[in-house]
Amino acid sequence: MTVISNIDILAIGAHPDDVEVGAGGLMAKFHKLGLKTAIIDLSAGELATNGTPEIREQEALQAAQVLRLSWRKCLNLPDRGLKTSRFNIDKLVRIIRESRPRLMLSPYWEDRHPDHVQAAQLVEEAWFDAGLTKIQTQSKPYRPLQLWHYFLSRAGEPKFIVDVSDDYALKREAILAHLSQFGKQANSQETFLNCGPGSMLAVVESRDRFFGSSIGCTYGEGFTTRTPLAIDNPLGLMGVPR
Ligand SMILES: [Zn+2]
Repeated sequence: MTVISNIDILAIGAHPDDVEVGAGGLMAKFHKLGLKTAIIDLSAGELATNGTPEIREQEALQAAQVLRLSWRKCLNLPDRGLKTSRFNIDKLVRIIRESRPRLMLSPYWEDRHPDHVQAAQLVEEAWFDAGLTKIQTQSKPYRPLQLWHYFLSRAGEPKFIVDVSDDYALKREAILAHLSQFGKQANSQETFLNCGPGSMLAVVESRDRFFGSSIGCTYGEGFTTRTPLAIDNPLGLMGVPR
């Protein structure tokens, strides 16, 4: 059983490979910078064309090792059933209050996959409710300072881009740990994830190259947030030390 411990970053995905695709580089970078990271998979991804929940769980744990996560937990909500219900919100509220992250990561609120859209809404509501004193759980109310959204199959205009060039090999390794989704095996069916020049890994790499090029580096991951970002040291944006 997963032990929920205090962490700095809590990333949430609808399916076991979402965080790796949208923010795998950032997660690797945060670990390298000495922060503690964790992932919540809302569902086991049981409706995917390839793989079983058991296989996907093993792949997710392998990816967790690549990204050096402190822990990873699957909430086992139904794939295609990530409803924003009081029950589901409270499940997440309890984990947010127990782990007390500074930052949460969520899928972007627009996407071709309805689960990603529902996950974004569920995470936003749990993030908000975790800070409400009159919603009582065993742990004290706590709302993380930041909630950032990463892109999956629809990329919006990023509010900022993080240089993940030095972390990209780990991102690629973490994505490919999900072999049942992104690899081609003897018994696997062709899907848009694993097949052709427009396969998901190619799309993700192209997008990360594009985002990287727009800030003058090789690979970048784009993020957005509904709240303005406070900048303490504007000189840092220009590479000038404080
Ligand atoms: Zn997904």
